Amino acid sequence: MKPFPRALAAISLVVVFSAFASDQTPTVDWNTVARIREEGLQRSQVMDIAGYIVDVLGARLTNSEDMKRAQAWVKGKMDELGLENVVIEPFMDYGVTWDNEFFSLHMLEPDYQPMTGFPLTHTPGTQGKVACPVVIAELQTKADLAKFKGKLKGVVVLASPPLAISQASLAAGVARLTDEDLKKLQENVVPPPARPTPPPPNPDLLKSDEKIAFFKAEGAVAVLQCEGGRPGVVVGFARPGTKDDKWSREESLGSLPIVAVTPEHYNRMCRILKRGLAVKIEIEIRNRLGDKVEKAANVLGEIPGTDLKGEVVMIGAHFDSWQASPNASDDAAGCAVALEAVRILKAIGVKPRRTIRVALWGGEEQGIYGSQEYVRKHFGNPKEPKNPPTPDYEKFSAYFNQDYGAGQFRGIYLQGNEHARRLFTAWMEPFRDFGLTAISIQSVGSTDHVAFDAAGLPGFQFIQDRIAGTAGHTNLDFLDTLSAEDLMKNAVVEAAFAYQAAMADERVPRKLLK
Ligand SMILES: [Zn+2]
Repeated sequence: MKPFPRALAAISLVVVFSAFASDQTPTVDWNTVARIREEGLQRSQVMDIAGYIVDVLGARLTNSEDMKRAQAWVKGKMDELGLENVVIEPFMDYGVTWDNEFFSLHMLEPDYQPMTGFPLTHTPGTQGKVACPVVIAELQTKADLAKFKGKLKGVVVLASPPLAISQASLAAGVARLTDEDLKKLQENVVPPPARPTPPPPNPDLLKSDEKIAFFKAEGAVAVLQCEGGRPGVVVGFARPGTKDDKWSREESLGSLPIVAVTPEHYNRMCRILKRGLAVKIEIEIRNRLGDKVEKAANVLGEIPGTDLKGEVVMIGAHFDSWQASPNASDDAAGCAVALEAVRILKAIGVKPRRTIRVALWGGEEQGIYGSQEYVRKHFGNPKEPKNPPTPDYEKFSAYFNQDYGAGQFRGIYLQGNEHARRLFTAWMEPFRDFGLTAISIQSVGSTDHVAFDAAGLPGFQFIQDRIAGTAGHTNLDFLDTLSAEDLMKNAVVEAAFAYQAAMADERVPRKLLK
């Protein structure tokens, strides 16, 4: 064993002592928690808020006209709730806006059938209404290109293999976390081994954008594709290459219309073509693209603190969604919970010591951009020499996020931060009757708390029940997938966590920055 350098030992001791700065049992303000529960359970507005976002505002693609309209509504709502410093804050030069304004797809021959689907984002529309034949062209390797050379002019291409549809998922019930599941989560104290690095990709395999470029060069009209394999569910995201070309107008207009289709309709066309019979479809898409690069934005508002107003506790969720539906569970639900949490706190008139700030992020679906850029700008990151910590870095307490669907909170992931266990154990105590009991040391990812965690700031995601619903990223994620009771309870818990964090004797302690 190597000798432990003296200086390092001294630094470690400082870190250990500051982490345990306050070792007494945290106090719980049962009286305020009771008022939060009363307001949030007996006079909840969470479904009214969620309903407005989902039913009236609809899909909220980052940097779309739809999203701008929705963010203007959020700003108005935060003002109405009495929040202060409400702001639509731009975070990066994003690209041009993209909105789908009309979509229509029909099989005309050998039998008429209206078809279900939607265009991928940052694709162009069609030249009006087009009727044309359909051809299967599943390209895998560069050698496949020769097979289709000269054969795709004026056709619509079926570009992905047909999918087996799992009927079993239709019969699956609501899977809430059982006591056994929660016990396993808590007992799972060793981090999972790092994933092995994947082997380099086969250079002969065609990339998605290379396939689209080939179809375009060959004169195809549009590309249809199918992902997912759940009955009636359409899954589809963005034109390949959008992140690399920064959602460019030229690249989008220079691409082909690409449409995700429901597996039943897609498979039907494939089967008819494999019989050697012709399929003719009619397609019309109108997409609106902006003509200049614009900044994507987050929306934020605050309940200002009192004696510790420079210190901040944050709650939030991502407001952006994919284009195919209003994405009630991903993440209108988390946004409604965060807005309802601050509504409850305003309604009962709390005067928190620290400032409570709510953030509805943009750009999460494309890569957690909104929260990342926000953390970079406001707090900095000790690991980024060009972006050192700001004075607000030390004054930050914690961020709490909801984005694992719309299910009820059953606990919290510590994100490897053992020092936060003591506070969270105390703050969860008033909600044992909700089934909020589990603390997992594990780190979880894929959403906005990661932006804080990556900068060494305490950022947390709750453990949530996986309730029914089609989940995000599909054409079927509407208000019907939400459970009012689950969201009411979540808003109450989030309000109480934000309040306790804002009132505690200490900020939420940090883990050692690695
Ligand atoms: Zn999400």
